[in-house]
Formats: sequence, C-alpha cells, structure tokens
Amino acid sequence: TVRTRFAPSPTGFIHLGNIRSALYPWAFARATGGTFILRIEDTDLERSTQAAVDVIIEGMKWLGLDHDEGPFYQMQRMDRYKTVLAEMQAQGLVYPCYMSVTELDALRERQMANKEKPRYDGTWRPEPGKTLPAIPEGVKPVLRFKNPQGGSVVWEDKCKGRVEFSNDELDDLVIARPDGTPTYNFCVVVDDIDMAITHVIRGDDHVNNTPRQINIFRALGKEPPVYAHLPTVLNEQGEKMSKRNGAKPVTQYRDEGYLPDAMVNYLARLGWSHGDDEIFSRAQFLQWFNLDHLGTSAGRFDDAKLRWVNAQHLKAMDDVALSALVAEQLSKRGIAGDERLPRICGLFKDRCDTTVALADWAAAFYADVAPSDAERTQHITDVVRPALQTLANKLVDCAWDKASLSAAIKETITAHGLKMPQLAMPVRVLVMGTAQTPSLDAVLELQNRQTVLSRLQKA
Ligand code: GLU
Repeated sequence: TVRTRFAPSPTGFIHLGNIRSALYPWAFARATGGTFILRIEDTDLERSTQAAVDVIIEGMKWLGLDHDEGPFYQMQRMDRYKTVLAEMQAQGLVYPCYMSVTELDALRERQMANKEKPRYDGTWRPEPGKTLPAIPEGVKPVLRFKNPQGGSVVWEDKCKGRVEFSNDELDDLVIARPDGTPTYNFCVVVDDIDMAITHVIRGDDHVNNTPRQINIFRALGKEPPVYAHLPTVLNEQGEKMSKRNGAKPVTQYRDEGYLPDAMVNYLARLGWSHGDDEIFSRAQFLQWFNLDHLGTSAGRFDDAKLRWVNAQHLKAMDDVALSALVAEQLSKRGIAGDERLPRICGLFKDRCDTTVALADWAAAFYADVAPSDAERTQHITDVVRPALQTLANKLVDCAWDKASLSAAIKETITAHGLKMPQLAMPVRVLVMGTAQTPSLDAVLELQNRQTVLSRLQKA
C-alpha cells in the first residue's frame, strides 16, 4: 500500500510554495487508501525554530492535511542514524577520509583551474592493492560513502520523466561529520527506509540529491521509492517563491479570511490538472488526484486568482458553516454574533471574497457604523430629513418582516413625493454605514428595530 510523507525543514515560515509539497503526498495517500507521514527535518540546528514547526503543524491542520503517523523529528532519531552508520562501516560501505579543509580547497582550486567540475578525488577511498596516505595525527575523519563507480543512476520521475545521472558525476558523499553526526542525504534515506515510504513527492530542488540517495538505498540493500519532483512555484514576479521575497506564512491566509477548501483547490491547480476544471471540492479533488497529471512546468502564484477561487467557495458554502468562520473573525474584533449571523452571511456572501470581508459587513449588525462624511453630505439632505422622520415613526410599530418593511418604505416615498433611491440611500448610509448594500428591506429585516431607530435619529 501507498506510504507518502511530507518532510519540511522548519527553517522558515512555511509558505504556499512549500505546502503544496504536503498537499500532493497527502492527497495521493488519501486517494489510494494509503498512509501519510509527517517528518520534521530539524537537523539544521542553527536555522530550525519551534515557531516554524508550529506554523507547519497549524497550517496543515487548518488546511485539513491530516497525517496518520508522526510528526517524527530527525533530531530524535540520531541514535538510529548512528546505528545504521556503524552497520555500513562494518560492511565496508563507507570509509574515513582525513583530507583537511585546506587540502579540499586546494583540490577544488586545481580542478576549477582545469575547468573540471569540483569533486572529491577519492584519495582516502580504499581499493584492493592501493596504499592509503599515512593517517595524520590529531585529525578526526569524516565518513564518506563509497559511491558506485561507472554506470549511471536512472529513475522514471512522475513529473520529469526519465532522469539519468552518470556515477562519475557523483563523488563520495560525506555522510558523517568529524563529530560523528550524520548528514542530510543519509538521514533522509534511513528515514524513507524505516518509514517504508513508497512514493517521494517533493520539490525539484532535490533532484540533484536523488541519485545520491538512490545509491545509498541500494547500498543498504533496498529498492528506492517512486519519485515525483514537483516544479517550483513562482511568485507574481516570476521568482522562486520564498520568504525572502515576501511569501506569506500559510497561516496568514487563514487570518486574512481564506477558506481551507479554497486553498486546497487553488494549490491543487498550481501543479496538477483535471481537464479544464477550475473549481472543485476537496472530495472531487481526492477522487481525481493521481500522479499522472502532475504539471511539468513551474506554477505561478496569482493573488487575484486565489481571491476568485476563494469567492467561488465562499458563495457555495452552507450559511451555517460559513457563519462559524465569520464568528471567529468577529470575535477577534471583540464582537459576538447571534442567531442572525447565518442569514447575514447568506445575504452578503455574494459580494465578498473572504470571510474577513464578510465580517466587515456583519459587524454593521453588531457594532456601531461610521458613515464617511462624503456619503453623509451626499445622501442626507434637508430634502430627505422629513421623510427619514416619517419612516422612523412607521418603523416604531411596523411588523418586522420584509413585506411590512418594504411597505413602510414605499408609503414614505409616496407621502413625500420622493424617488426610491432618495430615501433608500440615506437609510443605508445611516443604518449600514455605506450606500452600497443589498436590497434595503432585506438588510433592515436583519437589523434590530432599536438599532435602526437610533441610527435613523442621527440624521
Ligand atoms: N526537508 C526538505 C525540504 O524542506 C525536503 C526533503 C525531502 O522531501 O526529501 O526541502
């Protein structure tokens, strides 16, 4: 059965470009009845932070990318890596290398001067009949992996097609530092073996690591998993998305009022397609997702498109479910909603693209509104003030339903010889804080009588 993983390094706040590498392995596991594993690659002690781990976990939870196993932390698996290292040493798969940094630098300079690709030259690699240099005193060696010589490493990548690296391009990788700590590529392989990963779906910035990892798999007597290296996600300027050029942490989208299902929909389309389908539910996505329709070119993030996708999901969402999310946004402003909130959401959702925008509207039902001076002067004129008074009088004992409210408004304009907008606009400005609202009777019906009366008095 399928076993996939997401293996982020918590060295910065996870952004949309990174989280797509969680979405696909998650979706593939869910679509196939497999298992999805979360593994935190926290061995870079200087750059890893708990805050970054928190954003990964919170962001995945928010997006509904639930994992079945983990989170595993590489720092907690050090003993295991060291055990495997010792086994490899016993089997002669690795060897100590005493070349100093100065010697390595000199070697590199010589190679560059000869226009060769810098690579370790195998000085300390033991071979039958070869005499190794004398071991220098007081130097702690690194351990190098005996990369196969000759031949090549080939794999059928689910995104890139056939990829081939000649072994001659791969030098003997350092897999343990002088202090005995294992290095990155080695830890990944031990983890992928121990976690029985069948499909590695990750960013294509790892393509150059893959042949090295495959060689380590084989040295350990294991077949490597299937690989899918996803093309990069570019930002709107066409650069690789990164926090350095302004990519936001995923959790910020939650705070800005995006819906998890809309994010999943948008991210899914950023490197995978199902015909021309643009808007789909999570369930549809899981039904359709497979590794055969992964894109081969970089996806480009488009903020306007994301807002549009969010608006489509918002409109389609059930009002009660939507009101729960809007209530969360309102509570951040110290506002508690009530039983009117689902209907308020239903009335305004067509004109909103985020739950924050919807909360802006809903706030007008629970907290004071502040019409702009411009709108006040434009709409609340001496001509309409008497009509506003008449309407207020009628609303004191008018039945509070759309039909009765609508009748009260019509009677008022007839009595004062006004056109509908001459009355409706100032009422909207006073009651809702702006003239751009849905139909007035529908809005008034959802407001409380006392609120409407006291706001009309402000004319
Ligand atoms: N930790 C790596 C990263 O964040 C991913 C490694 C992998 O998926 O194999 O880029």
